[in-house]
Amino acid sequence: MFRRTLAVLLTAPVFAGAQTPSAPVKSYVIRAAHMIDGKSDVVQNDVAVLIEGERIVAVGSRSQLASRIPASAQVIDLGGATILPGLIDNHTHVLLQGDITAADYDDQLLKESIPYRAIRATAAVRTSLMNGFTAIRDLETEGAMYADVDVKTAIARGVIPGPRMFVSTRALSTTGTYPLLGYSWELKMPEGVQIVDGPEEVRKAVREEAKFGADWIKFYADRRYFLGSDGRLRSWVNFTDEELKILVSEAHRLGKKVAAHAIGWDGIDAALRAGVNSIEHGDGLTDDLLDRMVAQKVYWCPTIFVGVYVASGRGGVWPKMVEMERVAFGKALKKGVMISYGTDVGGYAWTENQAQEFAYMVRYGMSPMAAIKSATSVAAQLLDQSENFGTIEAGKFADIVAVRGDPLADISELTRVTFVMKGGTIYKQ
Ligand SMILES: [Zn+2]
Repeated sequence: MFRRTLAVLLTAPVFAGAQTPSAPVKSYVIRAAHMIDGKSDVVQNDVAVLIEGERIVAVGSRSQLASRIPASAQVIDLGGATILPGLIDNHTHVLLQGDITAADYDDQLLKESIPYRAIRATAAVRTSLMNGFTAIRDLETEGAMYADVDVKTAIARGVIPGPRMFVSTRALSTTGTYPLLGYSWELKMPEGVQIVDGPEEVRKAVREEAKFGADWIKFYADRRYFLGSDGRLRSWVNFTDEELKILVSEAHRLGKKVAAHAIGWDGIDAALRAGVNSIEHGDGLTDDLLDRMVAQKVYWCPTIFVGVYVASGRGGVWPKMVEMERVAFGKALKKGVMISYGTDVGGYAWTENQAQEFAYMVRYGMSPMAAIKSATSVAAQLLDQSENFGTIEAGKFADIVAVRGDPLADISELTRVTFVMKGGTIYKQ
């Protein structure tokens, strides 16, 4: 896996990082044959986008904009391409490099230092940006403490190229519910999460994470998934109701939203009762739970591809979980559940393009346009960032990507992004 990652680094396109902008010009005009703006269901043709500094100042047809373009503006003619808002992945792990098996996971925590893992994370975020993802919500560091905050800071300061990051630092779980597990009691093993027991430890951990830079609070609602005699995917719940009530209320009091890893019916039920903002994975979602998600305005990050990717390696109930999630996805579409694009990349190797998720969403019944919105305007809503990005509109950050072909005809076009601009800086052309 390490060798494969190196190969990607060596062949990755040369970028114009924020430290060395591609040109001193502050204004750009992007021209393209087609535009999907992330908001409208209609593709607009023969478009121009005027950018000044970090933001979009005007969007329209080429003729509409002709009189508004300053002489100093640099023209980027993308010819027959389709431009879209920068893609958003609301479930990543930049500090993880694939964990199909427990051994893959344990090796990273036992044999790689946090500085080394952070170096690998800098490669992961560059890969993400080059694949067209201009924003990510990174859902916990898997034992790498608060290193996601450092990666985020390095990107924001222009030290390294990468997406805008929304981080959750260390996820929360309870004693005995999260790796590393199964080692001799004589050994003090590293933890993949922050272990908390009892309401007051939960409250303190939420405050600590907020103090060190968490934008979101992530916790593991459940584990040990199994098929119940009632046909539902069941699970063991990690926290008491009292603990979860404090977790969510304290996070919300500090202005942080809450993401719950919840796979089985019991875990999702507990997370929804506690009032979380997003359900991650959600394989065991049933009609009753989906109805509650709609009523409570809770987003779902299905992370389909990672389930498929790890299922054969993990065996047991995992292949069945893939099938159950496909059924749940179809139901969620009918019920109007807010589905945000999220991949769990890092759970699988970063050498896999995280845009592969789109093909599964479309195969499971989502229209290509809706899939694109789930990774642009809908994903931005989940992040409370609709004012800043998620659509190509005047006033938004100039986060714009392009593909050569028609992504509505072939959604896999999104795995072949040819142009990436973030905040008015070109990273790939
Ligand atoms: Zn994850």
